[in-house]
Amino acid sequence: MKTYQDDDEVDVVVVGTGAGGGPLLARLAARGLRVVAFEAGPNFDSTDFTQDELTAPRINWLSERISGGDTPTAFGPNNSGMGVGGGTLHWGAFTPRPDPRDLTLRTETGVGADWPIAHAELVRYLVEVERDIGVSGPTPYPWDAERTYLYEPVARNAPADLMALGCERLGVRATDAPAAMISRDREQPHHGLRRAGFNLGSIHQGDRFGTKASTAITYLPAAVADGAEIRPNSMVTGIERDGSGRVTGVTYLADGVERRQRCAALVLAGGGVETPRLLLHTGLANSSGLVGRNFLAHGAAQVWGRFDEQIRGYRGYPSALITEDFVRPQDADFAGGYLVQSLGVMPINFATNLVRGAGLWGKELMAALDDYRFSAGVGMNGEFLPSEDNLLELTDELDEWGLPRAEISLSPGENEKAIERHAITRMTEMLEAAGARSTRVVLRSAHTLGTCRMSIDPSDGVVDPDGRSHDIDNLWICDNSTFPSSLSANPGLTQMALALRTADRMLAG
Ligand SMILES: Cc1cc2nc3c(=O)[nH]c(=O)nc-3n(C[C@H](O)[C@H](O)[C@H](O)COP(=O)(O)OP(=O)(O)OC[C@H]3O[C@@H](n4cnc5c(N)ncnc54)[C@H](O)[C@@H]3O)c2cc1C
Repeated sequence: MKTYQDDDEVDVVVVGTGAGGGPLLARLAARGLRVVAFEAGPNFDSTDFTQDELTAPRINWLSERISGGDTPTAFGPNNSGMGVGGGTLHWGAFTPRPDPRDLTLRTETGVGADWPIAHAELVRYLVEVERDIGVSGPTPYPWDAERTYLYEPVARNAPADLMALGCERLGVRATDAPAAMISRDREQPHHGLRRAGFNLGSIHQGDRFGTKASTAITYLPAAVADGAEIRPNSMVTGIERDGSGRVTGVTYLADGVERRQRCAALVLAGGGVETPRLLLHTGLANSSGLVGRNFLAHGAAQVWGRFDEQIRGYRGYPSALITEDFVRPQDADFAGGYLVQSLGVMPINFATNLVRGAGLWGKELMAALDDYRFSAGVGMNGEFLPSEDNLLELTDELDEWGLPRAEISLSPGENEKAIERHAITRMTEMLEAAGARSTRVVLRSAHTLGTCRMSIDPSDGVVDPDGRSHDIDNLWICDNSTFPSSLSANPGLTQMALALRTADRMLAG
């Protein structure tokens, strides 16, 4: 790997190597820019990843965050990655494309926010990402006649079979899920052989075979091959500027020592919590007052069914089935909608969700855990409307790097509650139609979005539609914080597409 000195003025510093930072870094390096990426977490070897939740390495952001509001969202393994690869180390690789109606929700319904990006332009980048990382899925795709997938779908596991059965009996369309999982061996440029067909249910602990795409085995090795440097275990804590206010470099902590790196432009790609935290800490890019505001999550309630036969949902790709029939349900009393996916989870994940999301404890919890092997789940990913009351603020408490800890407040509005009610009813019907003896609801939210949203009007957002700060022309943001609305699709694939687009806009400028 090429390396730079702190005194070298590189063209671009990128903070974070996940779904936003990874593709952007690769694109800039491929065009010959001198780029350095900083990553707070370590660089894992694929053999570090184990299937055991207890012995798996720490690929999550575990530094404490304070979570409040009516429905505090869970961080750590539920919500944030750490390490070279960021959130794509532990993501579920479930890769639906955003529905075009979700990008114009405000125009359609009068609530929520429109995206200042045309869906057709986004699709060109989505297709590119799907090819770059290897996405499998069904062709034809029932909700998008134009769409084709590179690889045939991965094998269904037992929860997927049961969801398919329940949907069929109810007249709900369901199909194999789009997934950044290869169903045939693939030679990944600058990484090597990625093996298909291991059918592992443990991908949230990291995948040693490379069946699941992460930026660590796709975009980042490509970036390094093109001359990028990646500095792991390096936490960016400050942003330096000249007299005119333009960014001149960053300060970072590596092995407890503070260092600086000079740069001509800076891209923040630390995710929906760390990017606004750093901006609030440094007091930058906030003339709108919106840094940290409009925090968004997805409603992510699950329903679990208890079946007579053993399901063993810890086997196989966990989210192998999807329905998009509820993105705009006919009988909706709300704006927007939701996706449903099948679920099989590992045991500690199952137990944690029963405690946190179903309020179980003691004997009731132990009895529910005894049902683990007989349980199949389905889960929603629902639209969440922006509200300035859902926000991230700094506290007086300092973390291990000396930065103020973030406090995040999340309270769902009437629209979110209505979507959740609708989804729970439909998901319960699916499991009952498939033969569940009993069902149990687990309430939860997922993903960290929206805290530095993009906007055309500088008073209405933190960055412009290209990702450039409205206030500082050599500061860019490329992560989930720029989402103006949550969309009903999970955010990873969309984020990678936005990253390539932001890189192109930077190069054009
Ligand atoms: C358990 C789980 C499952 C998920 N499953 C799916 C899924 O199936 N499909 C889907 O579409 N999405 C999924 N997601 C969401 C997806 O992972 C995120 O949308 C995506 O990774 C966000 O990209 P990002 O670039 O915003 O941040 P991240 O990918 O989280 O990357 C941010 C990186 O920046 C680093 N960083 C932060 N601050 C600093 C700093 N100051 N200095 C240096 N480094 C820093 C972090 O360590 C991290 O590596 C899942 C998320 C979780 C938690």
